[in-house]
Amino acid sequence: MAVVRDRRHLNLRLPLPEPSERRHRFPLPLPPSANSAAAAPTNSAAAISAADLEKLQVLGHGNGGTVYKVRHKHTSAIYALKVVHGDSDPAFRRQILREISILRRTDSPHVIKCHGVFDIPGGDFAICMQYMDMGTLETLLKNGVVFTEDLLAKICHQVLSGLEYLHAHKIIHRDLKPSNLLVDQKMEVKISDFGVSKIMQRTLDPCNSYVGTCAYMSPERFDPDTYGSNYNGYAGDIWSLGLTLLELYVGHFPYLAPGQRPDWATLMCAICFGEPPSLPESTSDNFRSFIECCLQKDSSKRWSATQLLSHPFVCNIEPKSV
Ligand code: ATP
Ligand code: MG
Repeated sequence: MAVVRDRRHLNLRLPLPEPSERRHRFPLPLPPSANSAAAAPTNSAAAISAADLEKLQVLGHGNGGTVYKVRHKHTSAIYALKVVHGDSDPAFRRQILREISILRRTDSPHVIKCHGVFDIPGGDFAICMQYMDMGTLETLLKNGVVFTEDLLAKICHQVLSGLEYLHAHKIIHRDLKPSNLLVDQKMEVKISDFGVSKIMQRTLDPCNSYVGTCAYMSPERFDPDTYGSNYNGYAGDIWSLGLTLLELYVGHFPYLAPGQRPDWATLMCAICFGEPPSLPESTSDNFRSFIECCLQKDSSKRWSATQLLSHPFVCNIEPKSV
């Protein structure tokens, strides 16, 4: 029960730094070529600089930074600009380094695209990303959008395609949840926020994987001694996907009653010792089965992203039909 030993305070975010990254200090040692559009394999034609962009509005505040909607002064293209404050917490700066490193490696229609990374006069630092005009799935849920099974199947197919891509490239997201899935008016969904993600080299020590938002963590990440015998990390993302879909479907975080305030101990007990949340009686057999494939407490029984793409709940979704 490593988790009980290691962490007794209540902190749902729990962004524990990884030992190998503790040496980084701000200003960020940008990876080579990170300050140009070549920093990521994107479709941006030319390098974008801070001076090219004008701020239109604040889209949101994250842990250590602010995201703005911006317009390119010459092309009028709209982007999202994540500005990391120069005096922000070192742990958050490490997250940003990791996020940049992963954004530079990814090129998938289901992963948010990065169009450039650059310093801003005054010590701030920015990542220019593809703009998603409907915000996150969490925003839609809070705004009362009803997620039918049909809609969830379309969303799910896209997230699974993104996860299949990431996992094939040995990237584990580790913080999949409604607020990290960006969406646009066509209901195209992109995985975002790679601040606590991990690029696998050999094997992953489950004890080093205790990062991300604990509400969406799988049993083996909470309790590697009991559930982590064949720990591979990828299965944790599948658990988080299952919980995310369930939350969108029932309209609230499924391990808690609507409006109940989460605390770390309650969540840990429910996830590790309780049964996975039940679905309403009206749920179709296909969706019920899909959720069961994701929420297997034994991670070795959980389906992979590739296997889930052939599940009847999503296998008839055309990739371009959304
Ligand atoms: P945390 O720092 O804890 O991960 P967060 O995910 O909310 O929090 P950010 O990734 O900085 O923080 O994003 C803040 C908000 O900005 C998001 O919740 C979302 O509403 C908005 N946002 C982020 N990226 C984009 C984007 N590419 N397009 C549109 N809106 C975005
Ligand atoms: Mg986030």
